[in-house]
Amino acid sequence: MRADRSGITIISFAAKTAGQRMQVDLQAPLEVDSVTGSAAIFRDGAFLISEQAVPTTREGNVIWVDLSAPMAAGDLSSITVYYHGVPRAAKRPPWDGGWIWKTDEQGNPWMSVACQGLGASVWYPCKDHQSDEPDSAALHITVPDTLQAVGNGRLRGRLTDSQHRTTWTWAVTNPINSYNLIPYIGKYAHFGEVYEGIQGKLDCDYWVLASNETKARAHFKQVPSMLRCFEDWFGPYPFYTDGYKLVESPHLGMEHQSAVAYGNKYLNGYLGSDLSGTGRGLEWDFIIVHESGHEWFGNSITTADIADMWVHEGFTNYSETIFTQCQQGEEAGNDYVVGCRKNIHNDIPIIGPYGVNQEGSGDMYHKSASMLHTIRHIVGDSVFKAMLLEMNKRFYHSTVTSAEVESFFSMFCKRDLSKLFDQYLRTTQVPVLEWGVYKKKLYTRWTNCIDGFATEVALEVGGKTLRCTPGQRWQAEAIPVGKKARVQIDRNWYVDVRKADKAALMELRSIP
Ligand SMILES: [Zn+2]
Repeated sequence: MRADRSGITIISFAAKTAGQRMQVDLQAPLEVDSVTGSAAIFRDGAFLISEQAVPTTREGNVIWVDLSAPMAAGDLSSITVYYHGVPRAAKRPPWDGGWIWKTDEQGNPWMSVACQGLGASVWYPCKDHQSDEPDSAALHITVPDTLQAVGNGRLRGRLTDSQHRTTWTWAVTNPINSYNLIPYIGKYAHFGEVYEGIQGKLDCDYWVLASNETKARAHFKQVPSMLRCFEDWFGPYPFYTDGYKLVESPHLGMEHQSAVAYGNKYLNGYLGSDLSGTGRGLEWDFIIVHESGHEWFGNSITTADIADMWVHEGFTNYSETIFTQCQQGEEAGNDYVVGCRKNIHNDIPIIGPYGVNQEGSGDMYHKSASMLHTIRHIVGDSVFKAMLLEMNKRFYHSTVTSAEVESFFSMFCKRDLSKLFDQYLRTTQVPVLEWGVYKKKLYTRWTNCIDGFATEVALEVGGKTLRCTPGQRWQAEAIPVGKKARVQIDRNWYVDVRKADKAALMELRSIP
């Protein structure tokens, strides 16, 4: 083991099935020095736990560990992995991740990691799969005593040795995605507040570059109003025991559970600009709101496969609309979500291929949010809000699939939403509501959609509102219309509208 570039990871685990071999992931160029396993020996009327080296085999980024004794399902054990090396440096964090070595404006070291997608095994040995979250975790970070080290959850202790190195121990007592377990090292200042939440007192802590403390104290005043809004719509903050934290990071931001990375430069909007183009997004800090929204969607509720990542990004994107509504009123929220549609590409489906560690389209953000907004207007506000609250209870601290979330929605609102989900998540087609006037009657139908898509919609016809459920064949609507009638769609539905051309209208002749 080399003292300068080395680390130790202890993994405690329960065997799901009988066996003697386990997989641990560690990405090159990091190297394993040795692995020890715990062995229990019954001696003198008591169990003695001893550590002994166990053989390992490396296959690319996979380390196979041959345990010293066979394990039965349910048996508990632990291994300790000693490793060393310089991990891959991030090229464009947080998107192209790895370790980030920077200095702040005063020249102090400033370091962190961003590894979503890439995987936590880029810097520590772990079971690197989103479906396998540890139920708790601790980080021990050793830094010069002139710097501070911040991790997830609560500070358990600090120990300084004779060589002026301080080891900071942070721990979470809740399940956590391995990519969310992150150290931050820098010249930090710390301040905090207690938020009176729906489950009692929630400690909110802020670690910011010492030189930014004044700015941060003013800017982070938006946190309590955001927590109040999210708790009202999504239920209690999911990690009261670990606290809430914003930590200034040398990259834009990331949803690191109970230690959210903040790098939005104390500006409102997304680095000072509004993704919706309406101005509504300039009234709040995008990174505070978006990354904190992930505490509910992504961190508490996690998808087993990143193909279903819309469950993280779509609901979190919609949390921006919810917060805009809490802050500026319902129409402002509508402005925001509708404005963000200009960012939708409809290039490939939102859900990616399963089992190959591949995300779907970037439309998982704005298009999913527009889909959720459409559902909200179909089922109504009170059902939609109750659905979000129940979703956060039902899937609290667990891993899910998109299919589970979809069927939960249909069941909860007592409507079959399966075709709607298929349409928006599994195709790139935006449904078109086609309309025409024939013998003084308004006719409607859905086109550019999958078989069976027949969703309810709100139309504006000659200044009147009409709610109807067109199918894929022409159907007459019960509203009087003149020849010059114009039909518009309520903007809260993410669909297109088109007046039928002559050929399409000819089909109406066959309707009695
Ligand atoms: Zn996100």
